[in-house]
Amino acid sequence: MTRKAKPSARKPITNDEVEDRFRDFWERNYDLLRQEGSHVLAEGTKQQALEQALLYWRKLKAIATSVTETEVKLALPGRTTPKGRPYVIEGVVDIVRQGDEIRMYDLKTHEAHEVRAASEHYQHQLNVYAHIWKRLHNQSLSGAAIIATRLPPKLREALGADDRKAIDAEMASWDPVVELPLDDEHVTRTIEEFGRCVDDIEEGKFEPRPSNELHKPYGTRRRTDHGDASRAGSGREPTFAEIHCRNCDARFSCSSYQTYRDGLRVKRSKRHTASMRNDQAEQESDLWIEENLTES
Ligand code: SF4
Repeated sequence: MTRKAKPSARKPITNDEVEDRFRDFWERNYDLLRQEGSHVLAEGTKQQALEQALLYWRKLKAIATSVTETEVKLALPGRTTPKGRPYVIEGVVDIVRQGDEIRMYDLKTHEAHEVRAASEHYQHQLNVYAHIWKRLHNQSLSGAAIIATRLPPKLREALGADDRKAIDAEMASWDPVVELPLDDEHVTRTIEEFGRCVDDIEEGKFEPRPSNELHKPYGTRRRTDHGDASRAGSGREPTFAEIHCRNCDARFSCSSYQTYRDGLRVKRSKRHTASMRNDQAEQESDLWIEENLTES
């Protein structure tokens, strides 16, 4: 005789409980990172970062709870650069399986409008990952998207002002998932570009983009007809610095970025001398520099 399994007495976890756990994990992760890398955040910055993560969870709950494989490593070994150096292409993605459908998500710490402005660049990279996935699993993907984790400027403004109504409105209009078409056409060329990039790195060719190009719009020609690439609220396209330098780990040792940033400071100081004097301490923080990395 078989006995019927008793229904589980455990109640489903509530949303508040999920967020409490989230805060707990957050603190533990932060402590771990601090011990490992001695990165210390100012309390305000830490709270902002936690808030960003919580908003991100609230916005993307449907995707987050349907992810079936997280941090999936993709590797394409046995590649050779144009100059004969062996190398491996690696990527990390999240996978959602629903029935016969498999979707791939790649997280970027950029704003969604920046991803849309340079969508070809992201599309080529994602298509290489899709190509690797297909080779490793012998399965095609039904779709792929970038999840842009950085909050849009208007939402950050609303949070800074603690304006609940504006926060709700901006949350509703925030669309951090950028769907990108799957298309094998450019895979070979993109892999060749990776190879050339490996050769440049190995030969110590690290020249940054010239400083006078950092303020130029990036992606304009590709996206103006869709009207979705402009920096939120400004009616213009995001610049190379806004898209790339802001997220570049090398920016504080990059001569082009330093020149660009100094130019931005001079420009701003002419315009806002008084307010800058009152706000000197904040201006000197990395956060200020990042938040103000715009050509206004
Ligand atoms: S900061 Fe980084 S992305 Fe910007 S020019 Fe320098 S190296 Fe390139």
